[in-house]
Formats: sequence, structure tokens, C-alpha cells
Amino acid sequence: MTRAYNFCAGPAALPAEVLEQARDEMLDWQGRGLSVMEMSHRGEAFMGIAEQAEKDLRELMNIPDDYAVLFLQGGASSQFSALPLNLAGPNDPVDYVNTGVWSRKAIAEAARMADVKEVASSEADGYAHVPDPSQWQTRDNARYLHITPNETIGGLAYNRFPEAGNVPLVADWSSAILSEPVDVSRFGMIYAGAQKNIGPAGLTLVIVRRDLIGNAREGTPVMMDYAVADKADSMYNTPPTYAWYLAGLVFQWLKRQGGLEAMAERNRRKASKLYSFIDESAFYANPVNPENRSLMNVPFTLADDSLNAAFLEGAEARGLLNLKGHRSVGGMRASIYNAMPEEGVDALIDYMAGFEKEKG
Ligand code: PMP
Repeated sequence: MTRAYNFCAGPAALPAEVLEQARDEMLDWQGRGLSVMEMSHRGEAFMGIAEQAEKDLRELMNIPDDYAVLFLQGGASSQFSALPLNLAGPNDPVDYVNTGVWSRKAIAEAARMADVKEVASSEADGYAHVPDPSQWQTRDNARYLHITPNETIGGLAYNRFPEAGNVPLVADWSSAILSEPVDVSRFGMIYAGAQKNIGPAGLTLVIVRRDLIGNAREGTPVMMDYAVADKADSMYNTPPTYAWYLAGLVFQWLKRQGGLEAMAERNRRKASKLYSFIDESAFYANPVNPENRSLMNVPFTLADDSLNAAFLEGAEARGLLNLKGHRSVGGMRASIYNAMPEEGVDALIDYMAGFEKEKG
């Protein structure tokens, strides 16, 4: 069996070691005679798996004790709704920064539920940069300030975070969580869909400071109430048990790699190789301001769009999968999350160089 290099933005590549362990434990988890998929979520075996996963995540991200860690469902998109329901009343001010497609979706959903203000935007330059925080038109009475540290489609990333004063900073970290260390205490809440750097789709992570929860507005669906989830240890209903277990295996894998410092170093090396190659080439281009380039999602275009199909076909034939850019922007995109080995990036660059030589 050969594993291809999968550059999909999500669901994304998982570490081979994790999949091998899951395979080995698939039918009989640690001599219990059943799969994790078949276990009661309230049984002692699964409770152990769940607790260990949370413990490992807390350790990896250095999450302070006054933060709840919730293992939810519904994707990051559900959090676009749950966030205003939990942290704001119907007429309360909530501030958002618009840096791309995912910010816009978060803004559109919140606008149905609260008084949204777009406090900064880089839409005018096609989302090529992150607006300078000193220019943001934030409100001191906002219930929170929402940012998207890594825009998965545009390949745009923050390289520093604003001082939000007493306003809780909330981050949709779906596509860069666990890719580098972060000071969680600077944030009121961090959330992420699992299917990029955490595990399989179906699990959604919410890390939220406990003093911010418990005041969900009237009418909030019980499944969206963070305080209910926290009180029930994310088991108010049946949680996505298998995805939770796999996320736990990923957390252990990350610890074996040396934790988030080591991942950050590797991710910086991978991304910098690819961007350098693109910048040095007259055939490939990336539109993002170098200071705000994502380490996780690298969009690029070919000098001639009519070569896109041939580029993708040749890539696939070499086991370089899912390089097609998002339909809203076209071109190519290489997502190089934690599980993408450095050799995968080398193989991509090698292919790109050969393609340019032949067709450029
Ligand atoms: N936010 C970001 C930054 C994303 O990349 C995505 C998914 N690509 C989402 C939100 C939506 O996530 P989900 O599909 O888990 O709802």
C-alpha cells in the first residue's frame, strides 16, 4: 500500500501512525473485545479515553484551568450561531473583523442574532493582508471581538493578535489550531472544526473561559448552550465518540513529535520552502502579503489558467492529491497541516518545478 500526499483543506490528511493505531485497535480495543465505536459513552473505557484526550489537549495548548474544553458536534459553522447565543443578547454589540470567506460567514450568521459591527476589513484588496489592529474601529462595550486567525480559502493568517482590553477575543481557529503554540489566556474563546488539525470531521472543539458561559440568551437550543455542555462533560447527548478517540490519538502523536513548539518549527520550514519556491518562480504566484501568509493553506496560481487541468492531472498521477483551489477563488491550494510530512512538500515542489520547465 502506498499513501498519497493529500493536500486537501479538510477533511485533511491524518498522521499515518494514528491511522495505523486506529486500525490495530479497530476490532478489539485494548483487549475489551469491541471497537471504540461500539462502546457506551458512559462506560468506564470510553470515559477514560475522553478524559485522557482532554488532559492531553490541555497540556499541549497549556489551557488554563478556568477554561472549559468542550467536545461538540455541528462543525465550526454551528459555533457561528452558538457564539452570539451564548455570549450576547439580541441587541448587544458584537465586533467582527472581516479577513475572508470564513469571517464573512461568521458575520452573516451573527448578524441574524445580534448587533454586528464589521470593525475592519481587507476585502478591498482581495484579502491580501490582515488589517492593522491599531486601525480597528472596535467598541468598548462589545460583548466580544471575533477574528479568524487563519483564513483557509484565502491563505491569510494573523502574525500577531490585538489587545482587546476587557472585550473577550474570540477566534475561529479551525484551520490552524495546534499548528503552533498560542497563549490561550489572551482569548475568551477559541473554536475549531476538527477535520484539519485535530481529527476526523464530526467533532468540534470549543475552549471557553468559564466566566463567559452560563448566561445564554433565552430560547438558546439546549444543544448549543455551552454551560449545559460543560456541566455534562460534553455528554449531554451522545458525543461523536470515535472522532473524539481519534482526536485523542492525534494529541498523543503531537506530544510524541515534541508538542506545538516542534510542530511550529516544522510547519514554518514546510511553508517557507513552498513560498520561497513560488516567489522565485515567474510561473507560479501567491497574492498574499508575505507577512500574513498562512503556514497551513498555500494558495497559488499558474501563469496560464488554461494549464490548470493538466497541472492537476499530472499531480494526481504522482500521488499529489486535492490541489485544486477553492471554487470561489480558483487556481490551486496546497493545505499543509501538521500531518503533511516535509517530504510531501518536497514532492510537490519537485513536481511544480518539473511542470514549469515543461510548460512554462
Ligand atoms: N471556519 C474556517 C476557518 C474553516 O476553514 C471552516 C471549514 N473549512 C469552517 C469555519 C466551517 O467549518 P465546518 O465545516 O466544520 O462547519
